[in-house]
Amino acid sequence: MTKGSILISGAGIAGPALAYWLHRYGFDVTVVEKAPAVRSGGYPIDIRGTALDVVERMGLLPRLRAAHVDSRRITFLHPDGSPVASVAADKIVGNAAGRDLEIARGDLTATLYDAVRDTCEFVFSDSIAALAEDTDGVDVTFTSRQRRRFDLVIGADGLHSNTRGHTSGPEEQFHRYLGYCFAGFTMPNDFGLSHEGVVWNAPGRSGVLYAAGDNDHVHAFLIFTRAEPPLAAFRDPAAQRDVTASAFAGDQWEIPRMVAAMRTADDLFFDVVSQIHMPSWARGRVAVVGDAAHAPSFLSGQGTSIALVSAYMLAGALAAQPDHTSAFATYERETRRFVELNQALATDGRSAVTPETAEALAQRNAALLDPDSFDGDTGRPEHSALTLPTFA
Ligand SMILES: Cc1cc2nc3c(=O)[nH]c(=O)nc-3n(C[C@H](O)[C@H](O)[C@H](O)COP(=O)(O)OP(=O)(O)OC[C@H]3O[C@@H](n4cnc5c(N)ncnc54)[C@H](O)[C@@H]3O)c2cc1C
Repeated sequence: MTKGSILISGAGIAGPALAYWLHRYGFDVTVVEKAPAVRSGGYPIDIRGTALDVVERMGLLPRLRAAHVDSRRITFLHPDGSPVASVAADKIVGNAAGRDLEIARGDLTATLYDAVRDTCEFVFSDSIAALAEDTDGVDVTFTSRQRRRFDLVIGADGLHSNTRGHTSGPEEQFHRYLGYCFAGFTMPNDFGLSHEGVVWNAPGRSGVLYAAGDNDHVHAFLIFTRAEPPLAAFRDPAAQRDVTASAFAGDQWEIPRMVAAMRTADDLFFDVVSQIHMPSWARGRVAVVGDAAHAPSFLSGQGTSIALVSAYMLAGALAAQPDHTSAFATYERETRRFVELNQALATDGRSAVTPETAEALAQRNAALLDPDSFDGDTGRPEHSALTLPTFA
């Protein structure tokens, strides 16, 4: 007998991971994703610490290990393109060498999807349009106009969560802007880069080229400080390109070439660097998980790992507790400290990518030349600050 029906909004990382565990515990799971398919490709992400235990318990570790990117070094450059230093990549991102994983985001989403595609229902190119909750369940109207009823609804639909908007209101009240914007895109690997990254800096700006392996393309990022988030640009891709280009006007090295590639990129991804902080991750029969509940920003490097851990904790609480109210309370009580410790990594000053001022940049550069100033290769304690319970 099924333990109940659950709709998950979002087939990124938290969504399929949650679907896997909920199905395993006996729930009927439907996942709705607004994109026409699971998104492939994408920048490299990290799976570390407690999150490694989650993917191991899912039986996915061998496939993910085979997809490990193995970045070897990151080279930092002065504004004129001359080198500051080359540092082992694990030291910069705080990875435990030989244990933590770095893989292309698309390899992880494909692996997670393959683990659930035959056991959970997936509805693509659709989205939640309205939610109406009563004492026994939730009536969901989709943008396709289809109407269905579920026992519970979980939002795993990312930083700008649609589900969160339906239940808890506008994003602004939970959104903590960290003062940066970024444009991410791919461009040809004309730089001869292999298993490595290059970070060009000027105060408050960085241009990053990242070769995840020996590919013919690199992942490019233009990251810049901006006092206020450019809210108007979110409705206008041309404005996003203009805002980014003007931040880098007159800069040297390969920046003009990167800006030109950004202008014509067909995979441009522009966003603010922000976190989500909610006083509660659930309201009634609806909860949120992953970036939707507690986005840490890419400055923490922990978004993927937190999403995997929090999906595991939410599913386990729903399996172990007698009702959804106590399950949501347990999920939050046992996961929040881990989440907050990892969110704090983004703002603790150790983010080496885009120092804001000339002084901070000089300090960062001095640190790069000091072999003792970066964490060793044992990983950061925050990454493993939660020991996974066993639920079933
Ligand atoms: C440029 C960049 C670099 C990053 N680098 C790292 C890194 O190095 N390490 C790391 O750990 N993390 C990194 N992250 C963060 C990481 O990608 C996220 O934290 C992680 O993907 C969160 O997973 P999620 O499933 O919660 O959300 P997402 O991966 O954002 O997935 C949300 C899903 O919901 C779907 N969706 C959105 N709206 C709707 C809707 N209305 N209806 C239905 N579906 C919807 C989306 O299409 C998407 O498939 C980076 C992020 C960015 C943007």
